[in-house]
Amino acid sequence: MGEIVFQNTLGGRKEPFVPLHPGEARIYTCGPTVYDYAHIGNFRTFVFQDILRRFLKSRGFKVTQVMNFTDVDDRIIANAAAAGVSIREYTDKYISAFLADRKALGLETPEHMVRATDNIEDMVKLIERLTAKGFTYVSDGSIYFRISKFHDYGKLSKIDSGGIQAGARVDVDQYDKADARDFALWKAPKPGEYFWETRVGPGRPGWHIECSAMAMKYLGDTIDIHTGGVDLIFPHHENEIAQSEAATGKPFVRYWLHAEFLLMDSEKMSKSLGNFYTLRDLLAKGNKPSSLRFLLASVPYHRQLNFTQEGLQQAASSVERLRNFVARLRSGKFPAGSSTVSQTAVKALDLFEQSLEDDLNTAQALAAVFDLIREANTAMDRGEFRQGDVAPVEQTLQRFDAIFSVLTDDDAERLRALGMGADTAPSDSEIESLVAQRQAARKARDFAASDRIRQELAERGILLEDTRDGGIRWKRK
Ligand SMILES: [Zn+2]
Repeated sequence: MGEIVFQNTLGGRKEPFVPLHPGEARIYTCGPTVYDYAHIGNFRTFVFQDILRRFLKSRGFKVTQVMNFTDVDDRIIANAAAAGVSIREYTDKYISAFLADRKALGLETPEHMVRATDNIEDMVKLIERLTAKGFTYVSDGSIYFRISKFHDYGKLSKIDSGGIQAGARVDVDQYDKADARDFALWKAPKPGEYFWETRVGPGRPGWHIECSAMAMKYLGDTIDIHTGGVDLIFPHHENEIAQSEAATGKPFVRYWLHAEFLLMDSEKMSKSLGNFYTLRDLLAKGNKPSSLRFLLASVPYHRQLNFTQEGLQQAASSVERLRNFVARLRSGKFPAGSSTVSQTAVKALDLFEQSLEDDLNTAQALAAVFDLIREANTAMDRGEFRQGDVAPVEQTLQRFDAIFSVLTDDDAERLRALGMGADTAPSDSEIESLVAQRQAARKARDFAASDRIRQELAERGILLEDTRDGGIRWKRK
């Protein structure tokens, strides 16, 4: 197998992946701010991270991934107060929802999922280290990072910090490049606001310090890969670098990997445009979890993904084609021997691996698998497929599914786990049609089919009763 290369935002070019500790990959992932349900654009980034970790694991790396929950910020404090509940109670709800959504999309669980509010002491320690080195100052009870003292400021986002006015401050967590200023590490509490009493004073951590503190606590001063969406490059990741490297004097991250935006029908997703969807919104419209996973995974993370209903339908039929092919492969009786499909399968696997090695080019990896399926289906149609072809094709499919994870037909189960199974209740016309099919089966003395339909209806909450005149009556349970 070949060398793995990643497009490193730091430096802006593709570089071979060489971890700090051979055989290990330590990954930090910026997790959600848990004040609402995560939207499909967020999940684009999380699916990319899942592909990344599955691929590295498939190459024998011991992966240690840390993902944080930002469970304190302005919105959370305001929303929890408005709802009359504690911050913990407010955020618990959205953390559970996020974990359930991840499961529905088949995302593996990172080795550490950590809450900011459980790691306040580590943030305080980091602020103390920065203060001891002269990187901080206090204004109105808040503690700021002095960016003019950190000479590498701007190296990730390519911002020129030379002209930035010393001492100009910014208090919000998210801001534009044009507003590059000293940012808050620790925020003094506003009247009536929840705060922590600590050695650096009363207040709460800024967003950026959370990630620096938790990344280094769980993964060490220098980590291999830091991931996030491109919208986090500035200021969040730039500020993480400043805080971490100012404190340790060591490089913070070796490879910065950023997922591009997801566009909704070629537009930026926003609540005001009415094109804003959570995962649950899309599932409630009847889409399958596997179609969503496939669509989000199919566009390489480094390219913008234009999310359309048409694309979603294509994803659904691609998954269908894959599953149908697997069923055909596993149930088919083929003559002994082997055909050229065996060599195609080996070549497809090579191409699949090479594509992922090249900065996770998922589109090219998928093309290799679908080319193989086309050729194998044609060979089966013509009676040229042989028993000896099954094993190499299976092997390619298994490697594929270790990364893409869509072959198991368990969408109904995944929906039920999200409490969305109720939607499987059939309509009256669908019931009438099934009842008619069952009657026809009985008439044809196909009792297996008749029983199967009765069973399916029972599972979907419909009871059948035979009437004395040989007819049938149905009712909902
Ligand atoms: Zn972060």
